[in-house]
Amino acid sequence: MRQHVVVALGGNAILERGDKDVSVANQRRNIAKGMQSLSQVVNQNTTTIVHGNGPQVGLLLLENAAYLKQQQQQQQQRQQQQLGLDNNETKKNTSSSTTTTQPPPTSLDVLDAETEGQIGYLIESELRPYLVPQNRSMVTLLSQIVVDANDPSMIDPTKFVGPVYATKEEADRIAAADPAIRIKPDGAKGYRRVVPSPQPLRMVENQMRAVRRLRMASANSNNATAAEDAVKEELDIEDDTIVICAGGGGIPVIEELVNDGGENSYCYYRGIEAVIDKDRAAAMVGNALKADGLLILTDVPAVAVDYESESRRKWIRRASPSALETLAGQGHFPAGSMGPKIESAIDFVRRSDDPENAWAAIGSLHEAPLILQGKAGTTIRRTGKTRDDTGTEEDFIEYYEDKQDRDQQDHPELEVG
Ligand code: ADP
Ligand code: MG
Repeated sequence: MRQHVVVALGGNAILERGDKDVSVANQRRNIAKGMQSLSQVVNQNTTTIVHGNGPQVGLLLLENAAYLKQQQQQQQQRQQQQLGLDNNETKKNTSSSTTTTQPPPTSLDVLDAETEGQIGYLIESELRPYLVPQNRSMVTLLSQIVVDANDPSMIDPTKFVGPVYATKEEADRIAAADPAIRIKPDGAKGYRRVVPSPQPLRMVENQMRAVRRLRMASANSNNATAAEDAVKEELDIEDDTIVICAGGGGIPVIEELVNDGGENSYCYYRGIEAVIDKDRAAAMVGNALKADGLLILTDVPAVAVDYESESRRKWIRRASPSALETLAGQGHFPAGSMGPKIESAIDFVRRSDDPENAWAAIGSLHEAPLILQGKAGTTIRRTGKTRDDTGTEEDFIEYYEDKQDRDQQDHPELEVG
């Protein structure tokens, strides 16, 4: 049965964790590897794609830091040259010849927008060869997402961005260079920069309307006007548009009411220095679009309890939101990685217009079609009902029986644990 699936694609599936090769060629290769699997979902369902941008936005931050450093060096050189001239020549007014270098006017919201463009472009070009038919409509939209200016994450940043620093010494050196940089441990893998990650409230209204329009021009042909039908025929739109939106979680903006005292008051959306978690953005978009399911694709085969312990680790096949909440309370899902995926899955299911049938699933990008069939990954829904199971349970959890079945040995391409 065709469904509307919102796919949340992990940033680490695009640039593998710890991979020192950050070239576009390598990112393109990684994306291409995942597209065969993703295309099977896309070809059989209405699809909206949201992707992460942690490694990419981190790289842009590093590029920006390198640019600033170069500017400072050049300024120092100029000052030294000026000093030399002053010593050799007669008295001169130096103030007119000393330039003050201002930091370049870049900020995270703009870098978020850059990554939406670059990753959207790469996904489009690597997905296209797998589409049936290949002329299926597809578009990347830069999305502004409204957040609360007083979100608690502004004070306590949790979002990992950029490269992994292997040792604490290396991390400390990076942090010491700039007081604005905060670094925290990222699981057992190393250290990474963290930035604020506020909750996404909604997509800016006129943008969401545009996304809805793209959705409408497809599946719901019963409601289409004659004119819309004609356009569909002219454009040869057999199937619906694949929309890539809220990439990197979207561009975080806060609402500012501009009041001119008259009838022309309006809302200005001001971008802020943060990165919205793409899983949360995907759940929000999914609810706003009334999607049937939220498919979170990452670099682990499923959600595990005791993930960090190879001997105790158990992979979850199916669970209810309440069962996952209990496990979350026991600390099984860290705030910077699995935590937001679990929260997003639970929120999507509970906030759905159809909470009894809504589902969310978390698993490996390379097993996307199997996850939809319930044969891989972790599926989250409110009842224990499946196609071949009529029971209902309020609070249930089911594990994969054969531990090896879900474990790293069967997934050599995945870095688990
Ligand atoms: P993405 O870029 O896909 O969002 P994240 O690093 O944010 O990737 O989240 C995926 C990571 O979560 C996995 O690589 C894994 O190391 C980590 N993780 C932490 N806890 C768990 C858990 N309980 N089950 C599975 N994976 C977990
Ligand atoms: Mg993540």
